[in-house]
Amino acid sequence: MSSRRDRPETVAEWLLWAQDRLEALDNPILESRALMGALLGSPNAPWTRGPEILSPEMEETFRTWVGRRRHREPFHFIVGEVPFFGRSFRVGPGVLVPRPETEHLVACALDHMTDRRGEAPVRILDLGAGSGAIILTLLLEVSDAFGVAVEREPAALRFLLENRRRFGLEERLSVIRGSWGEMLGERPFFDLILSNPPYIPTGLLPTLEPEVRDHEPAAALDGGPDGLACYRKILSFAPALLKEEGLLAFEIGADQAHAFRDGGRAMGGSGTGLTGSPAVMRDVSGQDRVIIWKKL
Ligand code: GLN
Repeated sequence: MSSRRDRPETVAEWLLWAQDRLEALDNPILESRALMGALLGSPNAPWTRGPEILSPEMEETFRTWVGRRRHREPFHFIVGEVPFFGRSFRVGPGVLVPRPETEHLVACALDHMTDRRGEAPVRILDLGAGSGAIILTLLLEVSDAFGVAVEREPAALRFLLENRRRFGLEERLSVIRGSWGEMLGERPFFDLILSNPPYIPTGLLPTLEPEVRDHEPAAALDGGPDGLACYRKILSFAPALLKEEGLLAFEIGADQAHAFRDGGRAMGGSGTGLTGSPAVMRDVSGQDRVIIWKKL
């Protein structure tokens, strides 16, 4: 190992230094480049600015970031941002990082909303909104829609409020600090209710990657013994809040769609006010990922 690799100065040398420290990860080269790209503000910078000498402040930040990544902290927590549906959202410890699969929930909701445009402004409710990626994206895509976001966890709420401010949506998104149906009343008010609730069965949490298991909030992942506890809870109150023809959309785990057939009867969900089985939509990897119900 060259001494420059131990006493790095340039971008290229710092990349080698980082690779040594991240060698236990699956892809130390990509990991190092991603962190350096975020530090320098451009994904190409690790290639184009190799000979540049890092400032002492940048060195310090890079050392800290590499140390955190070495401890398997999620990349997006470290850099503080995550891309979602073409925009960047603030995230960090205490909030679930929005996943690419969840863009699918947004896309499905948008598809189903197109035929409503031109009518009265759409009202959307997001239960367990986390960083706000879902509801804020919908409000940005549907410019006359109004939203309500419910979130219980204080750390997640901070990111939700920060992202709401970032996109200037204070006027169109109300935020309620509470759990699930609290403070929402019982009248049909919403055109669309969606949620990406925790849906991982408790017993499987220890099998998740260290980034998720050790760093992301269990409150956003743990769906109870069978992973379905939050859906049961939501189905107990949400249909009453939907207007006629309103839509209820969930992100679900890959093997959970069967539980929602027949009005969610497998979950004790008969009489939910939603008729029949929901449409099940697959994600890009072919897994069942989104279900959408219509209230008739
Ligand atoms: N898709 C997430 C994961 O794989 C789980 C999200 C959730 O439980 N809503 O970690």
